[in-house]
Amino acid sequence: MNKKYPSCKFACLKPLNTLLATKHKEIAAIIMEPMLHGAGGMIVFPKGYLDALYKIVQKYDIHIILDEVATGFGRTGKMFAYEYSDLKPDFLCLSKALTNGTMPFAATLTSEEVYSAFYDDYEKGKTFYHGHTFTGNPLASAVALSVVNTITKKKLIKKSQKIIHYIDSKLNLFEQSSAFKIIGDIRHLGFVVAVEIVANKKTKKPFDSKLRFEFKTFLEGLNHNLIMRPIGNVFYLYLPITVTKKEVDDIFSKFILTLERSYEKNLS
Ligand SMILES: *Cc1c(COP(=O)(O)O)cnc(C)c1O
Repeated sequence: MNKKYPSCKFACLKPLNTLLATKHKEIAAIIMEPMLHGAGGMIVFPKGYLDALYKIVQKYDIHIILDEVATGFGRTGKMFAYEYSDLKPDFLCLSKALTNGTMPFAATLTSEEVYSAFYDDYEKGKTFYHGHTFTGNPLASAVALSVVNTITKKKLIKKSQKIIHYIDSKLNLFEQSSAFKIIGDIRHLGFVVAVEIVANKKTKKPFDSKLRFEFKTFLEGLNHNLIMRPIGNVFYLYLPITVTKKEVDDIFSKFILTLERSYEKNLS
């Protein structure tokens, strides 16, 4: 599919529409990462995509499971990424920032409707018997509560909007950089910035993997005290919502310098 938003009019949702129209009786749920397809290449969804998807899914009364393990707790600029839409998830999978990465912990939230399906008098046999060895670990739970309290009481999401605008204002630095020749796309959502490295700006074709340009760029980053972990040909920043302007400046200048130096050393 070679279409572009917005003229595509979400043609990419057509297969889903067809699938649900024919198989909705066999499909219990849709599982997805909202707004940002993370490990798949830091793909940012266009505005309206989730709403368009929700409209299709609602027609068939199918549950939506949202994986907000990566996007939850302000990383995209909202507490949860689905808040960019009218979509109401039936399940919400949370982890990572829930304990700020200090403790392994995850939570699966669901709706009253789903909860009630497993709630009844004992003899009805509706109990959901599935559990984990360390479910509700008290230490991890205390950390999670503390994180959630800090985010809400200190209004960290609201306060973080300024720095998101600041990050946005810095994106033109990529365009001004000599490495822009090999940048095929720049994506930004909240505290996430992704830069796609390409051999051909028009076709967005990446460099031949034999060149190992991304690995060489990672090594170049180390020279500038920057540790980067590209996903294929996508370099990205996944900044904490408490990042300061000074830190953003520092990270951006090191990031761009790394791309420029790596380009000079390895490609020109
Ligand atoms: C990190 C991540 C996971 C993995 O969670 P595990 O608990 O490590 O299995 C799942 N989904 C997304 C979106 C993630 O970023």
